[in-house]
Amino acid sequence: MSHNKTPWNPSKTATARVKNPLPAPTKCPFCDQCIVKIVHHNEVYGRVYGEWPWVYMCKACWAYVGMHPFTNIPLGTLADGALRKARKNCKDPFEQIYLSKKMTRDEAYMGLAEHFGIPKEECHFGWFNIEQCEMARAWSVEVLKGLSA
Ligand SMILES: [Zn+2]
Repeated sequence: MSHNKTPWNPSKTATARVKNPLPAPTKCPFCDQCIVKIVHHNEVYGRVYGEWPWVYMCKACWAYVGMHPFTNIPLGTLADGALRKARKNCKDPFEQIYLSKKMTRDEAYMGLAEHFGIPKEECHFGWFNIEQCEMARAWSVEVLKGLSA
């Protein structure tokens, strides 16, 4: 069972399952203070979301990012409020693509990666900056138009 797992005692199987893991963030891209720590959801949200209530957080400016469940591998790069919002906003139309069942999730990621000219393994919303999020959103909206035409 994974109940006694923490980011300091992660699951080996869950860790091995993550393809292309990013290193743990040590520098905050938003401020000059480098005080990135592992923080519990209770401290960020005042409650627990999901099964793995941990984030990496810059204690100076509160930019943060979650972790793959039962590991200490970050889901992406640290995000401030604007970037978190951009990632959320662009993920929505993208998810609509494969929720439509006219394309698989894999095909959608392949298409987006090709659009960006990057390998599919590097095509993660958690890795995008705001500009890339907006490009992904525009691409997704176009694809959705094509699918419904
Ligand atoms: Zn910071």
